[in-house]
Amino acid sequence: MSTANTATPVPMLDVNRQNAPLLADIEAAIGEVCRSGAFVHGPACKKFEQQIAEYCGAEHAVGCASGSDALILPLMALGIGAGDEVIIPSFTFFATAGAVARLGATPVFADILPDTFNIDPADVARKITPRTKAVIPVHLFGQCADMRALQAAAGDIPLIEDAAQAIGAEYHGRRAGALGWCGAFSFYPTKNLGGCGDGGVITTDDADLAAQLRILRDHGQHPRYQHGIVGMNSRLDALQAAILSVKLTRLDAWALGRQANAERYESAADRFSFAPAIELPTVAEGCRCVWNQYTVRVASRDGSSDRRDALQKLLADRQIGAAIYYPIPLHLQECFADLGYQRGDLPESERAAKEVLSLPIYGEMTAAEQEVVIAALADFAATAASKQAA
Ligand SMILES: *Cc1c(COP(=O)(O)O)cnc(C)c1O
Repeated sequence: MSTANTATPVPMLDVNRQNAPLLADIEAAIGEVCRSGAFVHGPACKKFEQQIAEYCGAEHAVGCASGSDALILPLMALGIGAGDEVIIPSFTFFATAGAVARLGATPVFADILPDTFNIDPADVARKITPRTKAVIPVHLFGQCADMRALQAAAGDIPLIEDAAQAIGAEYHGRRAGALGWCGAFSFYPTKNLGGCGDGGVITTDDADLAAQLRILRDHGQHPRYQHGIVGMNSRLDALQAAILSVKLTRLDAWALGRQANAERYESAADRFSFAPAIELPTVAEGCRCVWNQYTVRVASRDGSSDRRDALQKLLADRQIGAAIYYPIPLHLQECFADLGYQRGDLPESERAAKEVLSLPIYGEMTAAEQEVVIAALADFAATAASKQAA
């Protein structure tokens, strides 16, 4: 049916293609910051903070050094430490759990919903105790968690959105970062809005929180050299802020490109009968997904990762990029062994870790490149179907 050994390699992501048309503007922005001499929380940072607040529909945005710090700082503002519990999904990037553990608090892992990969509000409700001080829903792969159900489950307990993968994602008409008490964003180069290095921001409508975050990110000093609390050093680099201001102007166009690619995978799934071998991701009602990752499931009958691994190998043989986000659920990570979780405790997180495979989705992927990926998926599905019939 299709090309067995294609000569067209398709990378998982190519940030150079995204940056190339903007290089002149990026270089001009860098030059301006260099000539200004204002490198620490100067005008470039303030401008970018305002742009992000406006983009997300939040009152305030506070820049910091990374998405990881954007999670730690609001937890610090809550005074979270030893003996406190913070509920997070098990199926996420490590930073969500790392932020909680770094402060000496206990991450309490909740399971996910199989259709969206996002935290299960019913499991959150079951895991709330008198020690629960916050819940961190992760908007995984670019789709918002079910914030209404989570708010209902959490009551007065603050929700900190881990929106690192979801800038521009919408939930019933509101954007990620404006749905909970605050939202944490990352500008790591592979995020939908990626800098040329690290960066992060926290969005919130809470003026007191915003003021406290500005103090916490600056060693807790307020005014200068007076430390009422112990903070940390977490700066949004002015150079990154200037670069990100340039890139923000294209963010919506890039999201549309990702959306179009997702739609092309969907129509191919009908044409080539990807199901049941390959299950495509779904978007919940009322949600706008920005597709930071396009993550399919490949289930094996014996519950192992064999079939998923076979698809990844087929893609690798044809020089098509694909990645497993994430191969080990956090409740089974060695560093959390002392928390006492067992295999089988969070079945959906564990199943996802064995079934998921993320495919190239970036907007700069050409139609021809995507056809190469689709042909490979079609071959895999056809082989699976003929084995089933035999
Ligand atoms: C990338 C990411 C982070 C951390 O962001 P950094 O800027 O790399 O520190 C946190 N949570 C999730 C879900 C992420 O994907």
